[in-house]
Amino acid sequence: MARRIWPFLARPQRVLALILVFVLVLVLGCVPGLGGWKYEALPGPWRTMSVVQDSRLFDAAPHFAPRGDGLALFLCRWPRTQAIAVSLPGDASPEELLILRRALAAWASSGIGVHFVEVSPARAALEIRFVSKPLHSRLGTGNALADCAVELEDGQARVRDGRVKAELRWASVHLIREDRDAIGRGVELDADQLLGAALHELGHALGYSAHPALAGASVMSRTTEDVRRIGAAVAAGESFSDANLTALYAIPNGLLIGSVGLSEAARARLGSFAAAARDAGLSGPYSRVGEVAARYFYRGPDRAPFALTVPNFRRDLVSGDGIDFKMNPRAETMMRAEPAPGSL
Ligand SMILES: [Zn+2]
Repeated sequence: MARRIWPFLARPQRVLALILVFVLVLVLGCVPGLGGWKYEALPGPWRTMSVVQDSRLFDAAPHFAPRGDGLALFLCRWPRTQAIAVSLPGDASPEELLILRRALAAWASSGIGVHFVEVSPARAALEIRFVSKPLHSRLGTGNALADCAVELEDGQARVRDGRVKAELRWASVHLIREDRDAIGRGVELDADQLLGAALHELGHALGYSAHPALAGASVMSRTTEDVRRIGAAVAAGESFSDANLTALYAIPNGLLIGSVGLSEAARARLGSFAAAARDAGLSGPYSRVGEVAARYFYRGPDRAPFALTVPNFRRDLVSGDGIDFKMNPRAETMMRAEPAPGSL
């Protein structure tokens, strides 16, 4: 296409076109990370590692846990010491099972070092389910979440050799079978779309919580057409990898990438929440980060989360205006039940 247009351009237009391309490369190459941290924050050899520099890992917000007067910020992924126990949807058709297994196999052979073993839903650390897309939902072709278990020591994140003792321990992938067109009619996803969506959501479940600002050839792109194209390539037997997940898994799990201070009020809120969770015998804590919000939470015996949420975590990190914690309803109830300090 470009070669066909090029001879028809007059010399000044060619110069202008070259300048435009140059400026575009310059601007796009310099889009700063959107996750609230920079590669300069990485210690030692990881700062200059080419797989890191070639990625958009820094578009994903870090995980967090209490440390000192504020929060430790760190990266979190699955450990590679054992296979990730994954459950497939019980209502999947044979064709759908084939597609989901192909997506898992693609990640297992992508070079990041994870592998999977199929188990029943009750034993799964990573569950894959089909859900229906509600009318007017902003859910694309699916969604995913991943929970990072954090080890504490005296109420603080346990840090050894610049690493927080933390790892992803549970994740959930929701996929849809049927999208809706502009007027709300159901349109079934084709095989390449479903494979692309499964690869994309598994990328989130494996720890990359963002969509890269410059997608390039990434399956983590926000654009469904990019994702479908990669799904088609994998279906055709092409090899698969993703620069963002490659970078995340090249870095040691739990690597500290910085810290953020807390206001006195936020510190007190976090302290009393954590004390109440410990008193109630809840399990945790866990950190979960998304594209916008984040949460620090514990789970009850029925797995129900008691959470301190940060509604605009990425924005708070970037703006430096401080972290704003909100309690979810369960945490609020727990705090109301907690005796005031000094009372019997
Ligand atoms: Zn996504």
